[in-house]
Amino acid sequence: MPAGAALLRGSVQVRHVDAGSCNGCEVEIGSAFGPVYDLERYGARLVASPRHADAVLVTGVVTRNMAEPLRRTVDAVPLPRVVIAVGDCARNCGVFAGAYGVVGAVADVVAVDGEVAGCPPRPEAIVEALRTLTGR
Ligand code: SF4
Repeated sequence: MPAGAALLRGSVQVRHVDAGSCNGCEVEIGSAFGPVYDLERYGARLVASPRHADAVLVTGVVTRNMAEPLRRTVDAVPLPRVVIAVGDCARNCGVFAGAYGVVGAVADVVAVDGEVAGCPPRPEAIVEALRTLTGR
């Protein structure tokens, strides 16, 4: 369980940030919250503002244009907060490692508490990661 997750148990409000993905990870996040997997039944809910969030799901490599917005978004989430890097690009730059517009992986820009592997990650893995936070 990521650090700080024990204080979030029961429900978790989630802000998603695409820091430079190919959109494949977004499709799987959409699936995880869609009618088949229905993550809301386990207490996880997507919110529009980081000020309403407990956790941040970050997808993609961090591009030059998104490094500062990502820092500001994470800073705007109240403590205790959890940051999860979703997908191989977010974890280690994946197929975009070394590309000219890439600053680095998510952990190179903000503190990361947990990771979900895969390119793209399976919806089941995203569900499992967020259920770890909600405890449901
Ligand atoms: S991990 Fe794969 S699916 Fe996700 S943004 Fe990177 S290339 Fe796309």
